[in-house]
Amino acid sequence: MLQLILTTLLFLPTIIEASGIWSYENIKQWRRGNRYCAGNLQSPIDLRFNRSTFDSRLKQVYLEDRYPPEQAEIVNSGHTAQLNLKNHFVLKNIAPGSEDYKVEQIHFHWGHANNDNNGSEHLLEGQAYPLEMHMVTYSSWYSNIKDAMTNTRGLAVVGVFFELSTEPNPFLQPVVDALAHIRSEHQHTPVRKEFNLKALIGEDRMARYYRYDGSLTTPPCYESVIWTVLLDPLQISFQQLHAFRYLHDAQAHVIANTYRPVQKIGTRKLFRSFHLQDIHEDKIRRLIMKENHGQCLTLNMKLIAIFICLLTIAQ
Ligand SMILES: [Zn+2]
Repeated sequence: MLQLILTTLLFLPTIIEASGIWSYENIKQWRRGNRYCAGNLQSPIDLRFNRSTFDSRLKQVYLEDRYPPEQAEIVNSGHTAQLNLKNHFVLKNIAPGSEDYKVEQIHFHWGHANNDNNGSEHLLEGQAYPLEMHMVTYSSWYSNIKDAMTNTRGLAVVGVFFELSTEPNPFLQPVVDALAHIRSEHQHTPVRKEFNLKALIGEDRMARYYRYDGSLTTPPCYESVIWTVLLDPLQISFQQLHAFRYLHDAQAHVIANTYRPVQKIGTRKLFRSFHLQDIHEDKIRRLIMKENHGQCLTLNMKLIAIFICLLTIAQ
């Protein structure tokens, strides 16, 4: 008996990892069974213009149709709503001369009903959005996503923010309508044929983005992801957002706050494909200007201090 207990305790982390038991309520425990979750290349991060570097090699990324479109299916995984798009598209132009990345699925991260300011995983100038969509793709060097996800740069994920709008987003509506049929875990349903991922994201939007090396934002947190987070958000109405907040997990609890807090960027470099003048959103421009102003003040104060010091020495 004692031996059985000891054996169970010894292998418990492996069992937990293998069975994929984790929740957003115990994020601090993720690292116990998943050593990568404690790594130095973790995601999400706070995307700050003043800490990023313009890289002229970052060109517009785009989606190319792969096969005649099949109907996509959406599933309630207990953690998110996931739209499986296997074989529908490839993502091109991730880096100069890089291979194509095959689109596997899209899924969403959101907050909860009493707070429209939280929900996204990445932050933009310290600000969260109410919803973030992730388009998960894998390198065409691999035959499936499982093999790709443990290899450096095996995955490329595109993050897209959503901001609240008074008008519903018609391109998102087929997904929203499907959510009503997957309220319980493991339920799945086809998404109407009109759903068009390319039209939802919009080609132009894929030219302005932040780029960094990071990880999966859920266990096992593999550090194999080339992150592309688009600068310009999409729109979503309150009613559309509410449909996500109505999904339930295995315990029949509302699926809420499905975002991991931002991680340290550490020694990593954050790149961007755009200049300050390409930022259209006033709120974001103001935040960047404020930070610039703050940095200038600090510099000025340092210069004044040096000047006073020199005067004192001269006397
Ligand atoms: Zn995600």
